[in-house]
Parts: sequence; C-alpha cells; structure tokens
Amino acid sequence: MHVLITGGAGFIGSHLAEAYLQRGAWVSIIDDLSTGSVRNVNHLKANRRFTYVIDDVCNRRVTAELVDMADVVFHLAAAVGVKLIVERPVHTITTNLEGTEVVLDQAAKKSKKVIVASTSEVYGKTTVFPFNEDHDLVMGSTARARWAYACSKAMDEFMALAYHREKGLPTVIARLFNTVGPRQTGRYGMVIPTFVSQALQNKPITVYGDGKQQRCFGHVDDVVKCLIALAEHPGAVGKVINIGSQHEISILELAKTVKDLTQSGSEIVFVPYEEAYAAGFEDMMRRVPDTTRLADLVGFVPETKVDKIIRDVMAEQQNDPRHSLDW
Ligand code: UDP
Repeated sequence: MHVLITGGAGFIGSHLAEAYLQRGAWVSIIDDLSTGSVRNVNHLKANRRFTYVIDDVCNRRVTAELVDMADVVFHLAAAVGVKLIVERPVHTITTNLEGTEVVLDQAAKKSKKVIVASTSEVYGKTTVFPFNEDHDLVMGSTARARWAYACSKAMDEFMALAYHREKGLPTVIARLFNTVGPRQTGRYGMVIPTFVSQALQNKPITVYGDGKQQRCFGHVDDVVKCLIALAEHPGAVGKVINIGSQHEISILELAKTVKDLTQSGSEIVFVPYEEAYAAGFEDMMRRVPDTTRLADLVGFVPETKVDKIIRDVMAEQQNDPRHSLDW
C-alpha cells in the first residue's frame, strides 16, 4: 500500500502520514511549505517507507510522478485559515482551484482513488442545523474575501464529483469541520492554538466579536481515523461526507476553559471583528455537522471532548517553546 498525501507537511497531513506509516504503508508527501512545516514531519524522515518532496502540487510533472507511485491519493494541499484567506485572496483562489485540477487530472490518467479534503466553510451562512451534506450552500457576497475560500472549495467538490461521474474516477469528498490538535499553528488565526499560546504566556486571550459564536472541535486523531476508514470504504466513492464532532462550545466558553486548564492569569479581552480581520468581515455564528452519513459508513464519529483536545495542545506547546512564536 502506497499513499500520496498532498499538503503532507501540514497539520492534518502530517498526522495522516504518521498514521499510515504506523499501519505499515509507504507514504509520499508533497508540500510547498506555504503553511506546512518541515518541523511537522521531521520525526518521520528516518522511516525508510517515507519520502517527501518540497514542491508545489501545481507542478504537473512532479505530481504525475508521485501519483504514479501511489495506490491512493489524499489531496489536502490548500490555502487554509481564515486570516490567510482574507489577507491573500489571489493565492487562495489559484492554489485551491489549480492544485485540485492538477491532482484530479493526474489521478484520472492512472485511475487512482482520490480523497479530497473540503471544508465546512462551504456551508457558508446556512442556518439549517445540523449541516447535512445535501443541504443548499448559502454564500455571501463576492465583495467579502472570506467567501472566496468557500467558493473555491465548493468548486473543488464540483470538480471531484465531475471526475467521478464523467471519467469514472473514484473520488471521495471529506468536508472537514474545525479540526484541532497538536501541530496546528495559531499563525493563520486558528482559535485553539492561539488561545493556548496566549494563556501559557499570560497574554490577553483574544475573543473576537462577542464570543457567542459556537463551534464543534474535532480531535485530529479522530479525524484521521475517519479519513482512513472512508478511503477504505467502497461506499464512500462519489459521496460528500461531513467529518466533525457534534459537541458545541461558544468561543467565550472556550476561552474560559483554556484559561482554567492552563491555570493562566490571562485576562479575556473582546476584539471587534473589523480589528481582527477586515472591515465588513462576516463570521458564522454556529456550525454543526450532521454526522449520520459518516456514522453509517464507518461506524464511528469524532467524539474526543474539547478538554482533552486543549490538554493535548497544551502539552505540545509546553514541550516545544517555539510555539510561542507562532502567533
Ligand atoms: N477566534 C477568536 N479569537 C482568535 C481566533 C479566532 O475569537 O484569536 C474565533 C473566530 O472568529 C471564529 C472561531 O474563533 O469565530 C473559530 O475560528 P477559527 O479560525 O479557528 O476557525 P473557523 O471556524 O473560523 O474556520
């Protein structure tokens, strides 16, 4: 078994690579290190079943060669993080559209199964809870950069489904909800590594808006198990599948929990959205996955509680002081 992971030096990709190596598979990764880091895979380099290529997935020749060697491809390379998306919209749109097209095109030539990582962002502003894979997607105005990310990932989904329908390529679309755990950096705005880092340094914990917005946080270990199980399940082919936890927490409650668990003296401060991101920024107040399809297919869903996730992130940051530089 040989697995190719695009974006394999990223947060989720590196955990996935590690899980497959533990299962005895051969793993290749390709990553341009735009948001990924060699630090995430340094511990894997000694494994003779692991190879890594530092390059852009849009480099057709390199991607073609890697796809050729693989039995299955996980396409995780993408521009991620709300902060990055707002600050670099051109990069976001081109990376997400072109990268996915290259991967699907090369995979179609060799009939290799592709698991495409999508995002709960595609649900946009929908207010029908929980979010079901067959729901309509409710996008915001093109004048607001955030929606470029949602639309580019929605196009990736259309493309993956089109390759399946038209060219018979086995594709699976995993819509990932907020995924967190060790190795996630706060540099691109993700809330849990940011709060933990702030709390450990006794700096103010920055709650954006009024903190009433709610999220469901899934542990990366659970999410990786789901990705592997979906890749192995023939019933997942041609489908969109939510992967996420159903445990909801408000961002203010999250800040308080981080403060308690780290026994930090940090104060919790409220930062207006326009200061945190850009004028006119729109946040989602609530986001909950319907995990029925996932449970039906693989028999389990991400269940790890947020306390345990925070403790794991804390343990990592306490062991590696470089994390304090991350935000
Ligand atoms: N957030 C926050 N403070 C921060 C970073 C993020 O209050 O320092 C909020 C953000 O506005 C959002 C939630 O936390 O409502 C989750 O943000 P994240 O970027 O982790 O994921 P998103 O759900 O926005 O994709």
